[in-house]
Amino acid sequence: MLHSFPIVEWSHGEWTIKGSTVAGVGTCFMIPSLNVAFDVAQGFTHFVSVPRLFITHGHMDHAAGIPYLISQRGLAHLPEPVFYMPEHMVQPMTQIMKTWEQMEGHQYRYQFVGVEDNEPITLRPDMLVRPFATHHRIPSLGYTVFRVRKKLKSEFASLNNRQLHEARQAGTEIEEHWEEPEVSFTGDTRIEFFDSCKWIRRTRILVMEVTYLDERKSIANARDWGHVHLDELIPRLPHFAGEKILVTHLSSRYSVAECQRLLDERVPPPFRHKIEVFPQP
Ligand SMILES: [Zn+2]
Ligand SMILES: [Zn+2]
Repeated sequence: MLHSFPIVEWSHGEWTIKGSTVAGVGTCFMIPSLNVAFDVAQGFTHFVSVPRLFITHGHMDHAAGIPYLISQRGLAHLPEPVFYMPEHMVQPMTQIMKTWEQMEGHQYRYQFVGVEDNEPITLRPDMLVRPFATHHRIPSLGYTVFRVRKKLKSEFASLNNRQLHEARQAGTEIEEHWEEPEVSFTGDTRIEFFDSCKWIRRTRILVMEVTYLDERKSIANARDWGHVHLDELIPRLPHFAGEKILVTHLSSRYSVAECQRLLDERVPPPFRHKIEVFPQP
């Protein structure tokens, strides 16, 4: 069965996510306000203008678009794109690019950066991304966008502007910083990430894979394939302190409407409003 890939949009509060997602077929998301992407599916034109792209793992339905996006940015004379990815992907992806360059007799400009669990990647002074460990069939990472907040330390609250300036000049750290998890993308994973990642339960928006929803596939099947079954998420819902869980990466056997119906039937009412399904056109 052939699938088409219209890019659709979902919003909650200040956050808008664009993308497309069907398990095994293609998954890609972007946050237009930050100009970053999380997985690239087959490399759609919407993603050509995105300079920083975070790749969860090396399965083709998430990563096959990397070479094509590199070539399209080259054609458009855009600056070299930076792809962040699990360290294990860097050598094989570089090899793929070298082979393609040899075939085309052309050299491309790009950066592949291997990243690790919890390593901060600054997007701008008030926003950063940290990878988190996920548990799939091949090495994989999820990514969280954090907002960096700061405020004056209480012991400096009584100082005037000149005194604060002097303290800064003297190298004193007068502000305290903390990070708030805003949007997390799991990529493909078993449910373990939910229990092991210390910030995931308080992320404002959790964009997570839930590939299987009912008895047509068992939890054991889901785990065999490195995926999440709805029956594993439901008992964890009381522990989720964020605002929304956005279900993605549905098996192609489920439509969005069918997923909504199954959620209505199976998710306990106090938690139902927190769960949405990434739309299909
Ligand atoms: Zn997948
Ligand atoms: Zn996968």
